[in-house]
Amino acid sequence: MPLQSTGSTCTVLIPREGRPDEPRVAGSPETARRLVGKGCVVLVESGAGRASGFSDQDYRQAGAELVEDGWGHCHVALCVGAPDPGRLEAMATGSTVIGLLAPYGNQALVQQLNRRKLSSLSLELLPRISRAQAMDALSSQANIAGYKAVLLAAAALDRYFPMLMTAAGTVQPARVLVLGAGVAGLQAVATARRLGAVVHVSDIRPAVKEQVESLGGRFLAPPQVTEQPAESGGYAKQASDAFLAAQRRQLSDQLGLADVVICTAQVPGLRAPLLISEAMLERLRPGAVVVDLAVNEGGNCAATVPGQTIDRKGVKLIGASDLPCTVPYHASCLYGRNLAALLEQYLQDGVLELDPQDPLLKDCLLTHGGQCHRDDIVNASRCV
Ligand code: NAD
Repeated sequence: MPLQSTGSTCTVLIPREGRPDEPRVAGSPETARRLVGKGCVVLVESGAGRASGFSDQDYRQAGAELVEDGWGHCHVALCVGAPDPGRLEAMATGSTVIGLLAPYGNQALVQQLNRRKLSSLSLELLPRISRAQAMDALSSQANIAGYKAVLLAAAALDRYFPMLMTAAGTVQPARVLVLGAGVAGLQAVATARRLGAVVHVSDIRPAVKEQVESLGGRFLAPPQVTEQPAESGGYAKQASDAFLAAQRRQLSDQLGLADVVICTAQVPGLRAPLLISEAMLERLRPGAVVVDLAVNEGGNCAATVPGQTIDRKGVKLIGASDLPCTVPYHASCLYGRNLAALLEQYLQDGVLELDPQDPLLKDCLLTHGGQCHRDDIVNASRCV
């Protein structure tokens, strides 16, 4: 059964986000223009783009219709985070919600989507295939996080990043250790290198060595233990306790040399690996900075707290929980492009037909017709 085959013009909603601390919006005026150009009716809730730098007038000029509350009047609602229950309750049966729905272990959300017979696409679950690259919202947001993490660290550090030859003498470059070389980690390497730091990188996937080196980083070969961590679809799988213990021993020596540590190591759907224990923090010198991007998933570093900067014996521990939100204009522009690219695949003269069997949608279709299609994800326990 197609997700939507009404044959009528598709009405797409760009709403105000529900969370008060969420400045991003699911579509920019450019998103609205693209969807109107494909024949859709685009509704934008007034003020939706304000915190991202887009005025109601910008959306109107892009061809959108401004509304106060559009949840009951759309076929498709775009969102950044999962909408609150009241909004989902207002949506018409059979309509579709698309966003970063944080589905892991989120049974309450899925029960409501099923009860209301709403279809839902969770962008976290899009396959990492070349056809999906333009729609990859995880990557567009992680890229921002990796960039901003380095700027935060540079601002908090008690010394320069670059090597400088001054009349007063030579300044040595900062030494940055990046844990995890996925999208955020590689952007952190690139940004730290642009600022002139010497960068070392640890990842458990040996395949990333070449990417790290192409950005000017130095790759730390994963420790050799009998049980090497596996990967699937480009993602790391959970490493064994023995591997993680060996990795922590390897990283202990690196911490003694580091000025900055950027933590980005993650395993989808699971607690992030603990790579810096409380005892290992003693190796860092006072003045050093740790930015933990994995803090919402339990953290790569002991003692980091989401949204807080903690001073621990002179070491600054930054729990960087929401960095894409600190660059809301570009985060929203890129996120809106991801969503427009996704919808454009399935729009013909304003009519939207999402085929649940399409390899692109199969994995990220969370609910449809009152059934959950990803029980494996929803029943996963996060252990955080
Ligand atoms: P992620 O956020 O799930 O994880 C970040 C990194 O942490 C990964 O590189 C992972 O290997 C690493 N990690 C896990 N456990 C670790 C440990 N114990 N120590 C050190 N590092 C550890 O990953 P992501 O950023 O979403 O990207 C995953 C992969 O997918 C990357 O290779 C990325 O280049 C690739 N990718 C492909 C496409 C595409 O082909 N369309 C799009 C985006 C990303």
